[in-house]
Amino acid sequence: MTKIIVVGGGAGGLELVTKLGRKLGRKGKAEVMLVDRNRTHLWKPLLHEVAAGAMDAGIDGLSYRSHAHNHGFSFHLGSLSNLDREQKTITLAAMLDESGKPMLSERTLEYDILVLAIGSVSNDFGTKGVSEHCIFLDRPQQAEHFHDELMNRFMQYVEGELGSDKVEIAIVGGGATGVELSAELYNAVEHLSAYGFDHLDPDCLRLTLVEAGPRILPALPDRLAGMAQKELRELGVDVRTNTMVVEATDKGLITKDGELIPATLMVWAAGIKAPDFLKDIGGLENNRNNQLTVNGTLQTTRDDSIFVIGDCAYCLQEDGKAVPPRAQSAHQMASMAHRNILALLNNKPLKTYIYKDYGSLVNLSRYTTVGSLMGSLMRGTMMVEGLFARVVYMSLYRMHQVALHGYIRTGLMMFVGRINRLLRPKLKLH
Ligand SMILES: Cc1cc2nc3c(=O)[nH]c(=O)nc-3n(C[C@H](O)[C@H](O)[C@H](O)COP(=O)(O)OP(=O)(O)OC[C@H]3O[C@@H](n4cnc5c(N)ncnc54)[C@H](O)[C@@H]3O)c2cc1C
Repeated sequence: MTKIIVVGGGAGGLELVTKLGRKLGRKGKAEVMLVDRNRTHLWKPLLHEVAAGAMDAGIDGLSYRSHAHNHGFSFHLGSLSNLDREQKTITLAAMLDESGKPMLSERTLEYDILVLAIGSVSNDFGTKGVSEHCIFLDRPQQAEHFHDELMNRFMQYVEGELGSDKVEIAIVGGGATGVELSAELYNAVEHLSAYGFDHLDPDCLRLTLVEAGPRILPALPDRLAGMAQKELRELGVDVRTNTMVVEATDKGLITKDGELIPATLMVWAAGIKAPDFLKDIGGLENNRNNQLTVNGTLQTTRDDSIFVIGDCAYCLQEDGKAVPPRAQSAHQMASMAHRNILALLNNKPLKTYIYKDYGSLVNLSRYTTVGSLMGSLMRGTMMVEGLFARVVYMSLYRMHQVALHGYIRTGLMMFVGRINRLLRPKLKLH
């Protein structure tokens, strides 16, 4: 039986393996497998909410094993470390348990068709001290770590043991992640005062958002980026544009001009790259960000049996631009890869993927949402803000849920979510 392995159960990979499991695995037409280094799935664009405590990864995560059971594929816990294209095998690294004891030894899995969907990691561009002192938001564990550190700082602040008159946080990167996290942190502070964190109010935060470019949110039109910046400044965020960070230390960030931006909690969200081990993996072609080069059908340029989707794919479009690393790209690529894998199995011609940009939206917690929409209904770009923008922003996550669970289950999940909002605290408090 044909063996199909999807490595990476994220925004793109989990949608794809779910479709393949339903179409092929359940009917015994192929053996469909998912490999992921985590046991549960959390949609990556929600990580800043986990970091601020607005979402609990433990409760909102989806178990790969149970999802696999329900959708006709098998799940293998493990981290891809190598690829042998001649033998058509992948290697999963040996795994340790939580206490550091060996748990699983190195394993190999055979494939006929392989899909790589392992996403991206933050790119610190080799900046001194960043990997030691800054937290990245690449994985749920890192977002949870940031949340723990944040709660510790707040506790020290209310107990008078912080050693500073403010909780000093610096975020590097004025893209969507940095902007959304900034707003989410002010929302967190406002809620925490209701849960026994006396004297905690927005004034206790000194939050600096640092951007090397001339303005934040380069993907949005000037006017919307300006609105977002105004909203952040009104909340109390010190937005620094044209500011290049050259070093991170235990005291804060050092800028190119030699200024110290004091911070004890620092997040680096300024750019991404594909994981380093993808460089030259199996002799495949990469770009300088380690992304694997694919042709229009999403197959790698050097091996037709390997597809790559999502952030780790380098897919050039007719206009010479690469498909951007975004959730909507991963969603669209998952649908196209599904179609093309079925075509490959049935000896039919494969289709070329054309990226459709439906716009960008940035959610500033409960304060506002801004963005631009594009599509066939609108000629050009439509700028949106407020409640309508928030509904459209949420719909991207709903589309992901629908791809995984179908409409009825997604509707039930939304209903349960509403009830939980009444029953659970507004923030994760531990
Ligand atoms: C905080 C934040 C906010 C964002 N907000 C938005 C937004 O509003 N809109 C938008 O369009 N995009 C947003 N993005 C970007 C978006 O999350 C990504 O573009 C999208 O998740 C990419 O999907 P993917 O399937 O390629 O990878 P991912 O969703 O990252 O999934 C990768 C999967 O691979 C697994 N994996 C990684 N390495 C290995 C390995 N070696 N072996 C096995 N498994 C592995 C991971 O555990 C993960 O499950 C945001 C990103 C962040 C960090």
